[in-house]
Amino acid sequence: MDILTANNLTVTYGSVTAVADATFSVAGGDYFIIAGSNGSGKSTLLKAIVGLVPIKKGHLHTYVPKEEISYLSQTNLADRDFPATVWEIILSGTQRSGKRIPFYNEQDRKKAEESMIKLGMEKFKTTRIGALSGGQQQRVLLARALCRSPKLMLLDEPFAGLDSDISQELYSLYQTLNDDGMTIVMASHDYDAIARCASRVMVMDNSKIDFVGSVEEWRDNKWRN
Ligand code: ADP
Ligand code: MG
Repeated sequence: MDILTANNLTVTYGSVTAVADATFSVAGGDYFIIAGSNGSGKSTLLKAIVGLVPIKKGHLHTYVPKEEISYLSQTNLADRDFPATVWEIILSGTQRSGKRIPFYNEQDRKKAEESMIKLGMEKFKTTRIGALSGGQQQRVLLARALCRSPKLMLLDEPFAGLDSDISQELYSLYQTLNDDGMTIVMASHDYDAIARCASRVMVMDNSKIDFVGSVEEWRDNKWRN
């Protein structure tokens, strides 16, 4: 069953067309990797899914409530001086639309606590985010995204700038989440990530979709390199 469908989706920034006529679907349970070189439109596509950029033409439909979609943007590693603790950041992930900003209930705190423990960040609960390493920050942001028990997780280059051993840990973590039923849509220009974890692959080139299919089909065809 589809969790997301796009039909002739087009997104522009002024005169620049970042995504042109994209038609594809993501099924529930997929580990869907959007590959392609820099500037090919991967980030814009993810932003369009969460409504961060307007759709110029075409349609996009998600079949899960917005509250069950989490998004981790590409360059959100925290500023050294950002004055928030690990706990504050993770807890803020429980916010839902229509809820007054600073109120958290017992259930929110419980979800945040579980998420923090799942990512092994409880020992840093009162630490400022800026004092953590890149890999630890990524874990905090992931814990924040997991608070709402998303059915669909959108990840933009989640391994960028991380040491390879930390990437390995995160790879297996995403794999576990996917095995447990979470649908993953990940932008990555890391072909290793595709070969290793994807169930389906979409290759973008210069705003257009060049290929979409199973990882086996992708392996068998020229898009491999
Ligand atoms: P990718 O994530 O694959 O590197 P992007 O979606 O970031 O690609 O970018 C696609 C195209 O849109 C590129 O030509 C880029 O320069 C342009 N673009 C991205 N963000 C903006 C923006 N905020 N304003 C103007 N152009 C943008
Ligand atoms: Mg990008």
